[in-house]
Amino acid sequence: MVNLLQFDRGALGDWCEQQGEQAFRATQLFRWIHQRGERDFTAMSNLARSFRDKLAASAEVVALPIASEQVAEDGTIKWLFDVGAGDAVETVFIPETGRGTLCISSQAGCAVNCRFCATGHQGFSRNLTTAEIVAQLWHAEFELRRRLGLREGERAITNVVMMGMGEPLQNYGNVVPALRTMLDDHGYGLSRRRVTVSTSGVVPMIDRLRDDCPVALAVSLHAPDDALRDELVPLNRKYPIAELLASARRYLERAPRDFITIEYCMLDGVNDSPAQAEALLALLRGDGSADRPGLSCKVNLIPFNPFAASGLNRSPDARVGAFAAVLQEGGIVTTVRKTRGDDIAAACGQLAGEVQDRTRVAERRARAALPVRVAPPTSHRTGAGVASGRRT
Ligand code: SAH
Ligand code: SF4
Repeated sequence: MVNLLQFDRGALGDWCEQQGEQAFRATQLFRWIHQRGERDFTAMSNLARSFRDKLAASAEVVALPIASEQVAEDGTIKWLFDVGAGDAVETVFIPETGRGTLCISSQAGCAVNCRFCATGHQGFSRNLTTAEIVAQLWHAEFELRRRLGLREGERAITNVVMMGMGEPLQNYGNVVPALRTMLDDHGYGLSRRRVTVSTSGVVPMIDRLRDDCPVALAVSLHAPDDALRDELVPLNRKYPIAELLASARRYLERAPRDFITIEYCMLDGVNDSPAQAEALLALLRGDGSADRPGLSCKVNLIPFNPFAASGLNRSPDARVGAFAAVLQEGGIVTTVRKTRGDDIAAACGQLAGEVQDRTRVAERRARAALPVRVAPPTSHRTGAGVASGRRT
């Protein structure tokens, strides 16, 4: 049985042809799955009976088993999906006025091992398949449409950010077809600017993404110099800051009116001093020379979500404010990410709850019943308006 969530539309066309069907049938099938959320082939009324029978015999549309669901006071929802062998991945829905953002995972664990990241501390387990990446969106979109009572054509998810668990550019082959499905007019129809890949800086893959599928790019910088970044993001030893920013500039050549989002996690006494803000400003603004060309970017300061094993603390608000002011006065648009879903430890990109969550998954599985906290009715239209610093 093949899970059809695995295929972007091109691959689904190839698969249909292998089944002896014409390629345009793939578009009809794709629309049933990704625009209507249909998994029952018998309900796909514009497909020939013979094709539906073939589908029923050889294919399926399967979501991921839900290990738990939590709904925060502010409407943020965190799903923990069971991906087998004791691994779980997290997907977070963040409702805001006029839009709904889904933060999705690309790997179980992560090999980059950033100092401040709970996912990194778990180590790397495995890459998610394309089906497992798309299944997070498929589940969230159609589950939310039902809960919110949306009419046909109305969308629950307007933005996707790959800021959950894992380094998406270290799972390139599976991530790109998932991105294509998100962008496809016959799929989720999200515009290029409403899908963001966040990366710790896998330089060669930034170049490939530019050529293959240039969605919005966020770069997790976290330090203004190589000595500190080597410590915080070990991948920096392979791809130092100058190379990373050069690849970000090349990325923008494909979309000159775009900008790169620079993510910077604020760590008390580590990377948050006024001098470091000045150094970051100089790095990003440059001086127009060939050596220091600067970068068209916005900065998103992320309050660190602490967890015991990190030995690190969140910068005090005043220090975050002062850091932001230096950048802003220097002419760089800077936002401080509002933490969301604090009561369920679910704010996007703040996966400190994950380590405990995985343990709880094991316990729950052992009890053979997976309790799900009952969701109160929630609507992203009534969610508090929060500037998250992400483009719309
Ligand atoms: N691997 C990719 C995407 C997933 S992490 C990347 O690193 O960009 C998404 C964002 O969350 C990154 O900017 C990451 O630095 C940030 N992050 C990770 N752990 C965090 C923590 N404990 N508190 C705040 N932000 C964190
Ligand atoms: Fe991996 Fe991103 Fe966490 Fe670093 S911050 S360990 S790259 S998930």
